[in-house]
Amino acid sequence: EAKAGGRGRVAVFSPELGASQRRRLTLERELREALLRDQFQVLYQPQVDIASWRIVGAEALIRWNHPKLGMVSPVEFIPLAEESGLINNIGAWVLARACSDIQGPLAGLHVAVNCSAVQLQRPGFVNELEQLMRAHQVPPDTLEIEVTESLLMENLSTALENLHAIKALGLRVALDDFGTGYSSLAYLRRFPFDKLKIDRAFIRELITTSDARAIVRTILNLAKILGMDTVAEGVEEPAQLEVLARNGCASIQGFLVARPMPAEDLATMVRDWVPFRTPLSSDELPES
Ligand code: C2E
Ligand code: MG
Ligand code: MG
Ligand code: MG
Repeated sequence: EAKAGGRGRVAVFSPELGASQRRRLTLERELREALLRDQFQVLYQPQVDIASWRIVGAEALIRWNHPKLGMVSPVEFIPLAEESGLINNIGAWVLARACSDIQGPLAGLHVAVNCSAVQLQRPGFVNELEQLMRAHQVPPDTLEIEVTESLLMENLSTALENLHAIKALGLRVALDDFGTGYSSLAYLRRFPFDKLKIDRAFIRELITTSDARAIVRTILNLAKILGMDTVAEGVEEPAQLEVLARNGCASIQGFLVARPMPAEDLATMVRDWVPFRTPLSSDELPES
């Protein structure tokens, strides 16, 4: 029988455990070794400025190549890593990877790295970040930290201090998945965000539902009033790009441009990229 929970957890599988529970126990156990066994990989998804149609940056997205289970989604393992505290090691690894790619194939690009609220709640986080950036000679303005609002409020004062310290280092800070949390507006007042990332859920329904469109317009207006930069996530269709362009969204990220890819592939894409050619016809381009 399996004893779930607690530090001295024993993962002995029994038929009573459902398949999903067994998978969870396996992942929890093997997450610990995944770093040592070099099973993680970082892919990059380009972000394109709508007005100039230039690739202005990329988001770093972790992948876990599990030897038996294949590709495990971060949506599945990041929460497990957060619960066990392993996210601190994994997050540091992603940051180191990103710094070394900025020095290498991604030179000249801005790279956004997702950081868990768990990482931001550690007092030593910014110190380590600073050392890492110095070791890799990464210019501060090439790195951006993305945080989601979930969990952030739990240890507010440390997280707030860290976010201010990150900004003081010269990095930009983006609020990820904006619009999905229950207290999005409160976050905007308390945290020094430079950028809002509009959640994919709204972009998905941008064409089909009028309230998604109204929400996106409202977010874009809000960002404009607050002087914040904007990125729309999960843009898959030209029609979505068109609505975003008309409503003043600064940049997009999504399958319409490209799926996440290895750093070397992105370097090739950037090299061969032709700017000023949006998938929109010229009369659909924003006025400004
Ligand atoms: P996120 O930060 O909001 O990242 C965007 C997600 O949307 C990525 O999923 C990306 O592959 C996906 N995506 C981008 N464009 C499209 C599109 O056009 N259509 C669709 N259907 N999906 C699109 P991914 O890579 O599976 O990551 C999921 C989440 O896992 C991320 O959401 C982020 O919250 C978390 N995550 C990923 N890497 C890291 C990491 O290094 N550290 C931490 N703490 N979290 C990470
Ligand atoms: Mg993100
Ligand atoms: Mg997001
Ligand atoms: Mg997300």
